[in-house]
Amino acid sequence: MEFWSARRMQFCDTDCKSALRRRICLVILSLVLWAGFSRASEPALQRFQFTHPAMGTLFSITCYAENTNQAYAATTLAFKRIDVLEDIMSDYQADSELMLLCEKPPGQPVPVSADLFVVLQRAQKVSEISGGAFDVTVGPYVRLWRFARKKKVLPMETELRAAAPAVGFRKLRLDKQARTVTLLVPNMRLDLGGIAKGFAADEALEVLKGRGVNRALVAASGDIAIGEPPPGKKGWTVGISSIDAHDNETTTNVMLANAGISTSGDTEQFIEIGGRRYSHIIDPTTGLGLTNRIQATVIARDATTTDAMATTVCVLGPKRGIAAIEKTPHAAALILTKDDVRHETLISPRFRQFLPKTTETPIQPEP
Ligand code: ADP
Ligand code: MG
Repeated sequence: MEFWSARRMQFCDTDCKSALRRRICLVILSLVLWAGFSRASEPALQRFQFTHPAMGTLFSITCYAENTNQAYAATTLAFKRIDVLEDIMSDYQADSELMLLCEKPPGQPVPVSADLFVVLQRAQKVSEISGGAFDVTVGPYVRLWRFARKKKVLPMETELRAAAPAVGFRKLRLDKQARTVTLLVPNMRLDLGGIAKGFAADEALEVLKGRGVNRALVAASGDIAIGEPPPGKKGWTVGISSIDAHDNETTTNVMLANAGISTSGDTEQFIEIGGRRYSHIIDPTTGLGLTNRIQATVIARDATTTDAMATTVCVLGPKRGIAAIEKTPHAAALILTKDDVRHETLISPRFRQFLPKTTETPIQPEP
């Protein structure tokens, strides 16, 4: 606004200049009054925290509200919204909308809820950006991974080959006009495990905002949706954990407001077979869990993006992962890798702005 005023002044004559100066004074005065008034009118806020189990994890909401009633009413609605989304997107509930969709005959356009459609649209966008590294049609491979976890043996080559024709994001067709989903080949099984928690966190934050609770943070283990900062603060401080499960230390702290942040990796969920560690994140090109030790933290404008992109970066690895991050608006990533000899930390160019101070050198994205 100031810049705009200054530019306008350059084109004014003297009379006009003094009139404009008066107007600017008035604007400044009213801004000062408004700032004073809004500070005086903002009631003292108290901090609240509530938790709720859903989507196989514990959702937690930390927020600032005027009183217990406001906080309780808003968080209750936010948790209800998460439960509704779980009923739509769960692959553990045989009657979830997602699982019922997978039962439909191939080639048939199926009308779906707005929520399911939006998530699938967002997922397909990430599949495009990542060249299929992120792919919600990996369900048949995830199923094999779960059997492998139970039996402690890797899926057989024949099983992987049999599953492959049902995997591939281009076999999932979305019709925006009709809001329908078509699964193009038989035996497809969609899995929203890499995006649903981030989406649910975003939606819960929206519910809180709708109830006037703007200073809030919704966390679903590694996926966090962040609103306005706590009173008097510039942001919420979020610690990024180490790649080693036994290490409770956080490696880096970032300060965020109106953003999403997610961390993916195999620190918590993996299977060990034949001395090798297989992550619950599947490489769609092999059908097997990732074996390279990697943890990716992604920051972007919302947690739907960060949830999907953190999984994506793990699949792509540091170099191609950072290239995908650079193609994603406002996104930034911190990647930790580990092998027998060394730990490495890499950041994407945009990550630097979130670091208090850093010695890491960003690696260049691939052209
Ligand atoms: P977490 O669920 O632990 O937060 P992620 O967000 O990385 O971890 O999601 C991992 C889940 O995503 C897996 O358990 C599986 O359900 C699903 N998934 C696995 N591999 C892929 C992939 N390549 N693309 C999309 N989703 C995947
Ligand atoms: Mg994810």
